[in-house]
Amino acid sequence: MAATLIDGRAIAQDVRAQVARDVAGFTAQTGVAPGLATVLVGDDPASAVYVANKRRACAEAGIADLHRHLPASASAAEVTALLLALNEDPACHGILLQRPLPDGLDDAALSALIAPDKDVDGLTPISAGRLMQGAPGLRPCTPVGVVELLDRHHVPLEGAEVVIVGRSDLVGKPVAHLLLQRNATVTICHSRTRDLPAVCARADVLVAAVGVPRLLGADAVKPGAAVIDVGMNRLPEGLCGDVDFDAVRAVAGLLTPVPGGVGPMTIAMLLRNTLEAARLQAAR
Ligand code: NAP
Repeated sequence: MAATLIDGRAIAQDVRAQVARDVAGFTAQTGVAPGLATVLVGDDPASAVYVANKRRACAEAGIADLHRHLPASASAAEVTALLLALNEDPACHGILLQRPLPDGLDDAALSALIAPDKDVDGLTPISAGRLMQGAPGLRPCTPVGVVELLDRHHVPLEGAEVVIVGRSDLVGKPVAHLLLQRNATVTICHSRTRDLPAVCARADVLVAAVGVPRLLGADAVKPGAAVIDVGMNRLPEGLCGDVDFDAVRAVAGLLTPVPGGVGPMTIAMLLRNTLEAARLQAAR
């Protein structure tokens, strides 16, 4: 039987509608709208589109748009000054430094300046450490989106064999920690893993976050497994994932399409994180 497809667009829409209701409640209660500062440095066209999408989503959810744009010529000192000012600004609850930064600016060093309680991307070293230790904190958007998709489909995680392909700080590692906290038995694969299909075929839940088009075929999937494809690979014929969709669909129990699976969840989780950040700061 063909796998049930996970409709990431519908789930993301549902999350966004819930966030909008919760933002309205928060604003009515506190008199303050959660505020997100998207920080764009330079004029990279793809980054400009991503930031515009995030700002539009914020506006729809009732989140105040505190967007800042610096020229590509901005120095590290100027970006630092802006981030430190936003850290101190009580109207700003979340800060998102859009990457990549122009050449000459150190993405990691500048992102690390963002106050942990405003780190709505959840990617700074302090946020990563909090996640690893299971301490409260803001979690990275795409990884929490992956867990949300599994939860919405009631996929059992406790004791489940989870295999994650990819060990990036952005996706693979945070997904692994989130699922470890849900008491899954987690295996992380990468480019040096021996016999990747055999390891993947053990998984009740398989998460692909690699960036190699259609790397994982039917031989890498246990019949009935839940397969989450984070991959977004641009090919001449369009967008495709890290999973061979047609082959895997015949074997898996649940499967995310690309596009329309994990992708829409990232912005939805950014909105949720911004509200969460505002709540944290209001509680102080
Ligand atoms: P990344 O930083 O390039 O990491 C890729 C990981 O895959 C690395 O750990 C690498 O192993 C591993 N890998 C590469 N080739 C492999 C192979 N042949 N076999 C097994 N493992 C292999 O990528 P990323 O930032 O995590 O992103 C992964 C994918 O997710 C990309 O397609 C990206 O566009 C997509 N993505 C989507 C969203 C979304 O919103 N949907 C968000 C973020 C990323 P090594 O560590 O050994 O090099």
